[in-house]
Order: sequence, then C-alpha cells, then structure tokens
Amino acid sequence: MKVYPINSVPLRKVLTGADEETIPDLQKSDVTIKKIVPRLKKRRFGPLKISNQIPKRRRLEIEKGLEETSKSANNWTREGGASNHIFLKKRIKPGTIRNVEFNLLDIEIGESWPINVTVVHGIRPGPTVTLLGAVHGDELVGPLALTYLCGPNFIGDGHAIDPSSLSGTIRIVSVVNLPGYYRQMRDLPDGRDLNRHFPGVPDSNTTSRVASRIWSNIISGTDYIVDLHSAAKGRTNMPQIRVNLAHSSSNLTARSFGIETILDTKGPRGSLRRVANDSDIACITYEGGGADEADPEAVQVAMYGILNVLRNLRMIPGYPSRPRFRILASGSEWLRSDQGGLLDVLAPAGSYVKEGEIVATVTDPHQPGISHDIVSPSRGLLICTATYPFVTSGTPIGHLLPMKRGVKTLMERLDDEGCLIISGSDGEPPWREDDDVEDIPVEGKWSGGSPDAEWGFNHKPSEEEEEAA
Ligand SMILES: [Zn+2]
Repeated sequence: MKVYPINSVPLRKVLTGADEETIPDLQKSDVTIKKIVPRLKKRRFGPLKISNQIPKRRRLEIEKGLEETSKSANNWTREGGASNHIFLKKRIKPGTIRNVEFNLLDIEIGESWPINVTVVHGIRPGPTVTLLGAVHGDELVGPLALTYLCGPNFIGDGHAIDPSSLSGTIRIVSVVNLPGYYRQMRDLPDGRDLNRHFPGVPDSNTTSRVASRIWSNIISGTDYIVDLHSAAKGRTNMPQIRVNLAHSSSNLTARSFGIETILDTKGPRGSLRRVANDSDIACITYEGGGADEADPEAVQVAMYGILNVLRNLRMIPGYPSRPRFRILASGSEWLRSDQGGLLDVLAPAGSYVKEGEIVATVTDPHQPGISHDIVSPSRGLLICTATYPFVTSGTPIGHLLPMKRGVKTLMERLDDEGCLIISGSDGEPPWREDDDVEDIPVEGKWSGGSPDAEWGFNHKPSEEEEEAA
C-alpha cells in the first residue's frame, strides 16, 4: 500500500514515447545537458569525502578501504578497438547486442531453468557491468527496469545504450531466479535464499548449485554489479542503495547512482554484494518498492540510476545527474507496535517525520472504538514501512534514519505530503559536481547486524548477524 506521490511524468510516457513535449527523454536529456552546461573546468577526481559523523572506527575502515586501489579498474584501456567478448562460449563481436540463453541447472533431463542474458558489447574497450533483477523471484522492480532498459526506447542505434558508441560491455539479466519468479516466490523451489548462497558449491544443494553456476558464468569477468531488489513481502522500501562504503569502487558506484539514501553495510554472509566485494568486484544493491509490487517510481529511479552509473564510468555519453544531498547511514532506529491488531500506516516509506509524530495506528476489530498510535521516537526519514496489516506487540512497522543534521536540506526536497522527492523520480535530475553534493551522516548501528535483521518476515538471520546482535 504504497502512497508515493508521483510528481514525475508517468513512467508509461517515458517508456512509450507518448506526449513528446513533456517526456524526460533520456537521450534528449543528454543533448540538453550538453547545451546548458558547458564543461568549464576539468572533471575533478578528488579524494572521496567521508562524513565526519560516521562512527570513528567505521570511518577509519572506509578511509583505509579507499586508499587501496581497485585491481579491476586497470584491466582494460580505451585505446584501440575492442576485441570479441567471449561469454558462455559464445563470441560476441564489438558493436553488437546478443541474447544468450543460460541454464541455471546443468542437467540432461528435467527442468534446467533457462534464463535470458542480454549482452551489449561496445565498439570500444571498457569495463564489464552486470545488471541483475529478481535474484529474489517476487521482487519485480528489477525485472521491469531492466526489461524497459532492454527495450527499443533505450537500447540500439542512437539510443542511450548504443553498442556502436558504447565503451565496454553490459550483461543484463532481467530475471535471475526464474523458477521463483514463475512461482511468485522469493526463494528457489528448495526453499533457500539464492542471495545467501554465493559463491555457491557445484555439488551441494539446488540453490547452492545455481549460485555456483551464476557466479562462475555470469559474474565471472564482471567489474561492476548493480543488483536490483525490493523489500520482502509485508513491507516496502523507499528507493535506496546499500553498499560497503569501505570498498572503493563500490563506494564510487553507489555515489554515481545519483540518489539520496545510501546505507553502509557489507551485506549478509553469502549475499552477492559481500562475496563480490571479497573478490574485489564493485557491487551495489538497489532497493525500491516491495515484493509483488510494480512500483513505477522505484522502476524509474532504478533506470535513471543505472544510466548514471554507465555515464560515470564513461561507457555511455552524457553527464551523470547527482542528488542535492546524500544521506550516508551507518545505523537506524526501529518503530514498533506495542499493541496487537490491524495496522494503518499514515506516513508511507519515504516520509520525513518529526519526533512524536503519529506514523501509524493500530485497531482491533474485537474492541471497536479503541485505537493506539505509533509515534516516531525522533525526527528522520522513514526508509521502509510495513504493508502487512497484522501486528502483535513488538512487530516492527517502520525503519527510520534519525537525522540530527541536514534537516533543512532534506525539507527543501519534500513534496506536499512530506515525502522525499527522490532524485530521478521527478523527471530530469539536475547536473552538478560531486563536490556540490551535501553529505548528511546518520550515525549508529544496524540492530541485529544488518538493515533488515529486525523484520520478521522472510528473514533468517545469518550467523554473522547473530554474532553482531
Ligand atoms: Zn531482494
């Protein structure tokens, strides 16, 4: 029950190309931006800023991480032409797009779960970026964003992703967990979470076999991963990025995505993000909307974000757009119901709430006329709220980034309903230098060791989270 204000042009128009005058057409925006903003000064590649309010221990870890140069960035050079891209034993010529079928299971009889991988191999050398949707089968924002990006409005001759001008290679998998997707389920059919089983074991359980095949065939040779997710069933996320800020190329990728909220977290054990970082592959997780939801705003923000990442890597032309501010969060607070009954969320995910503000109410059909308010313990940004109405005492109903600083800046980007207007959701985001983006730190710890550890639904804590709790 998402009540995002849609200040943006409807996604349908962006995708169908209807009503040309008002569409924030991404190809056109490149042209417009070039006209309006001549490059007056050299692009700055200064040291990354680290918020001085992130806890000191974590800050030192991040600083140390950023000092270590990333190995993956130097494997290619843009001089000269690109060579063929070998993917799944297929030879893909520079300047071409190819759809390749890949079986999640390597078998001779039975269902092999063939998924589609679209490979766009540029005419110039450059990094390899892998874009993934539906690692969790019921999270549909990723599949929608990637399907649209693979569509005729965004890919091909003269479009945003044009293999005849692209530097590097893009691998796009709109639906990774195909059997889960068909069953409208998060997990693979053996009931295991694919995103807790990387890098996988080839002769272990089904999910571990699938993870192993994805890891060694699709992730192998990748420099950057953007993994698109939504909240699990029963809740919904405001668009946000999760990243290990101490991993330098992941840190850069997270910032270049161009949205306001970045949560600093390594990811649970066995998650793609954590395992990729351990192999020095940049990886960010985008979270937007909820499971079983086709959230148009979250889809649009994901599409803009991916194009921003590609622009920032100078794979496609144009300047990446940047938000006015970035909230770099290392912890949060939880809002819980102290009563049982049926929940009514008044402040949806993405709302700025004040201390003491009523965020939700709980009523009980057996005791009509009585309701209990759930109030916010402090001011801040609600990044996730429950959508499942059944609550008992102690059920988390909202996830809050408490804000001590940056409130004025944040309030300038609220709509009439008090919701943050996410950069990229209101049409064409402005271009600005990275140094002009205000960093807003949110200090603290993730209760239970990860941003999602307190949600009861579908969350089995990893050993590490249990250790951290
Ligand atoms: Zn997910």
